[in-house]
Amino acid sequence: MTSARIVVAGSLNADLTIYCERLPSPGETLHGSGFAVNPGGKSANQAVSAAKLGGNVTLLGAVGEDPNGDMLVASTAGAGVDVSHVRRVAEPTGVAVISVEDSGENSIIINAGANGTLSPADMSPAVFVGAGVVCLCLEVSLDTVQAAAQAGHDAGATVLLNLSPYAPVTEGLARLTDVLLVNAHEASQFLDGFHLPAPDAPVGAWAGAVEKFASRGLNKVLVTLGAAGSVVLDSTNAAQPVARIAPTRVDAVDTTGAGDAFTGGVAARLAAGDTLVDAAHYASVAAALAATKKGTQTAYPTVAEVAARL
Ligand code: ATP
Repeated sequence: MTSARIVVAGSLNADLTIYCERLPSPGETLHGSGFAVNPGGKSANQAVSAAKLGGNVTLLGAVGEDPNGDMLVASTAGAGVDVSHVRRVAEPTGVAVISVEDSGENSIIINAGANGTLSPADMSPAVFVGAGVVCLCLEVSLDTVQAAAQAGHDAGATVLLNLSPYAPVTEGLARLTDVLLVNAHEASQFLDGFHLPAPDAPVGAWAGAVEKFASRGLNKVLVTLGAAGSVVLDSTNAAQPVARIAPTRVDAVDTTGAGDAFTGGVAARLAAGDTLVDAAHYASVAAALAATKKGTQTAYPTVAEVAARL
């Protein structure tokens, strides 16, 4: 079976990462122990993950006319993503300035730059025609995300929304979302502080969360739990409203972007015709393998690498 086309609409950022013994206090200057510039941005990461996992991916976004923009176009195109809808604009490419201390703790400041120029007018319905899956996150304006979700919905695509970085979503956007992807923190924020079950709780303990999400218009939700794996909540599946996806055991060296690897994996497998539970199983292996290498896009696994661990 051939895979349906995936449209990823949203952010591309250059990740400027400085490594240090400890994070500086306000007003303090410290010596770093290393520095790297890498391609990033949630949508670019998700597009690369999906493409490396066999997806036929179109990326809709904007970067500046600068070396960071060149790097991002090269990285996404190099993974096989169609970048003909990534606009070059006068604003500088979006950046994430990341400090990582030896303990692994980090602090991140994002400057939207070119990502901030994306507007609903860029979400041209023509780009979405024929798409099977649309993949969205919240690193661009909510209006833009809503327009992309509408275009995807109108095209008959399955609309995935990764609620990251967290922002309250409108009822309208929730209605257009077919599958919500959240980590535990975002899930709790979305449900107004609702206390999620512990990762090792029996599946029955998730019944309240299934109901809560459904009451907000979200019937299918993937909750990622870091090294503890993930759960699939599906209020439309009476036989199995909750499915636990066990984590794939790996020696993790860098979990940055594991969530994006997971989202890209889900998009790739839904586009290939998998059920939500099967797609989550596959994505869980892909995300775990991504955590075994430093970096994000360059660390994401290929179809062959995932197949070797399935
Ligand atoms: P990030 O913001 O760092 O990209 P996230 O908070 O969105 O991450 P997580 O829940 O941390 O997402 O991770 C996503 C998925 O990646 C998990 O559900 C799991 O399948 C996989 N994963 C993450 N960390 C590990 C780990 N240490 N070992 C195995 N799998 C992992």
